[in-house]
Amino acid sequence: MTVKLAVTGAAGRMGKMLIEAIAAAEGVTLTAAVVRPGSSLVGADAGELAGIGKNGVRLVGDLHEVVEDFDVLIDFTTPKATLENVTICADAHKKIVVGTTGFDEAQKSTLLAAQDATALCFSANYATGVNLVFKLLAEAAKTLGDDYDVEVYEAHHRHKVDAPSGTALRMGEVLAGALERDLNQVAVYGREGQTGARARDTIGFATVRGGDVVGDHTVMFMAEGERVEITHKASSRMAFARGAVRAAQWLQAKKTGMFDMQDVLGLR
Ligand code: NAD
Repeated sequence: MTVKLAVTGAAGRMGKMLIEAIAAAEGVTLTAAVVRPGSSLVGADAGELAGIGKNGVRLVGDLHEVVEDFDVLIDFTTPKATLENVTICADAHKKIVVGTTGFDEAQKSTLLAAQDATALCFSANYATGVNLVFKLLAEAAKTLGDDYDVEVYEAHHRHKVDAPSGTALRMGEVLAGALERDLNQVAVYGREGQTGARARDTIGFATVRGGDVVGDHTVMFMAEGERVEITHKASSRMAFARGAVRAAQWLQAKKTGMFDMQDVLGLR
């Protein structure tokens, strides 16, 4: 069976990459593509927009117009737009892969609430390698334990609007979980001035922004005499796009519930 996919934020960096990834994947087809309401791109061809040649999918400016035309929506937009799209999908019992990051706690609760009406996949990072790294981090933290200071470093391109990255925060949650700490209590987001000595159970985050960096993450476990570093570097957004398409195919078999890429890859 061919799974019919829609993409919102089709004109975005990830949106265009998703259109290309869907065209290259087996068992899926792009049947709808949505851009910002009022965009001058409405009516244009989605394939042309993505630079892969005409694919016959006309860009629309409102998800309502195409909600009956797809099985699963892939949404990499903004928190506000994603929540609107999740509501539309939940009402129509359409499944949704959420790639957007930067949700606050209230917005995350709204996302979670949709799982009674439809199936959602929500991951801060859809790259297979990063999801393997999440698993490695839990192992490392459990083995190294409280004797090692843990810090998370991330770098992204100059256009990224949220910090630390959703992936860095997810890494922090994985580390805190393995070390039996509450991330809200122990996270330190950047340091400046007379900070005093490092508190033992701190999990620190450092953020770098610039150029065209697709996404670098390094977790350091540091003790007297040695340091372990676990690093992932994304060199193309295609890694995220391919993972999101895989998640959409997997999600098609689910009726309701909230899942993530660890479920899709069988890493739990
Ligand atoms: P971008 O700014 O290039 O693209 C976002 C697009 O969404 C824009 O084209 C914008 O016009 C469009 N948009 C905004 N509101 C809309 C609406 N109501 N309807 C339709 N389109 C709308 O950003 P990007 O680099 O593509 O990233 C998008 C999001 O995905 C960010 O939150 C980013 O952090 C996240 N991201 C997640 C992963 C992951 O693996 N989970 C990977 C990369 C990026």
